Amino acid sequence: MLKYSKQREIIERTVKSFGSHPSAGEVYEYLHPLYPNLSLGTVYRNLTLLSETGAIQKLHMPDGSDRFDGQTRDHAHVVCERCGLVRDIDTPPQIGLADLVSEKTGFVMTGSQLLITGICEACRNGK
Ligand SMILES: [Zn+2]
Ligand SMILES: [Zn+2]
Repeated sequence: MLKYSKQREIIERTVKSFGSHPSAGEVYEYLHPLYPNLSLGTVYRNLTLLSETGAIQKLHMPDGSDRFDGQTRDHAHVVCERCGLVRDIDTPPQIGLADLVSEKTGFVMTGSQLLITGICEACRNGK
């Protein structure tokens, strides 16, 4: 049995190596042949924990599912409504947004997520 800290490290490394936006199930399917003792629940719990510490990002999809992202720099996502494809979009730093947030609401801004929905090229081309 793997130590908890070791499990977390493996899961973090796996998400970062994907370079895409895997679901917990995809991370589990990738790791399961290598670590047969790792359960889907453990994978999901560790992914959530890692997103809480800021090591990875958790993305809430419009269909209610979660995806995970090893890229922690600020960037926006566009997701295809039909096939669920997720792409990254680099966004310029949102200068002044933290000030606006605090002025309007009194909140201290700790992060922001922009998720744009659309229809990808493949789906648009009738596939
Ligand atoms: Zn699509
Ligand atoms: Zn991303």
